[in-house]
Amino acid sequence: LDLDTLRWTGVKERTFIAVKPDGVQRKRVGEIVQRFEKKGFKLVGFKLLKASKDLLREHYWEHRNRPFYNRLVTYMSSGPVVAMVWQGQDVVKTGRDMMGKTNPIDSMPGTFRGDFCVEMGRNVIHGSDSVESAQREISLWFKESELCDREVCSNNWIYD
Ligand code: UDP
Repeated sequence: LDLDTLRWTGVKERTFIAVKPDGVQRKRVGEIVQRFEKKGFKLVGFKLLKASKDLLREHYWEHRNRPFYNRLVTYMSSGPVVAMVWQGQDVVKTGRDMMGKTNPIDSMPGTFRGDFCVEMGRNVIHGSDSVESAQREISLWFKESELCDREVCSNNWIYD
């Protein structure tokens, strides 16, 4: 456990969420942001950008030898994405649960992928799969100065 990991635990836990190019084109940004907000998580980073293939290759480095790697990078660079950092207790796991499974066909209604899409190659949203991945992805997509932590007045109504 390094210093950063200690700094990002409990209510300080952070995850990297991206609305993929299909999600942006299909106007799901508002609803995705809204569901994270309604849940009680805190938005600490947000930007719209057209990601470079280099950034995407690094982001999906663990899949570099998989057959879908090049198609995935092409898909992800086909239009702007909304890159976000959300913070809160267990936000990584909860974000994954809100997202659904990798394949939309396995995703329950009520999840983003269960509600918004039908194919794995157009599955509208990305979310970090562990605290360690979140740290790696957040530092890849955001500069420290782009993240805005702050006290929110509703904290006592979200946390015991
Ligand atoms: N993907 C794909 N075909 C596959 C597996 C994955 O097109 O057989 C894409 C899909 O868009 C997925 C992304 O690659 O979201 C990353 O895969 P991962 O297994 O990390 O899934 P995730 O964490 O996004 O659910």
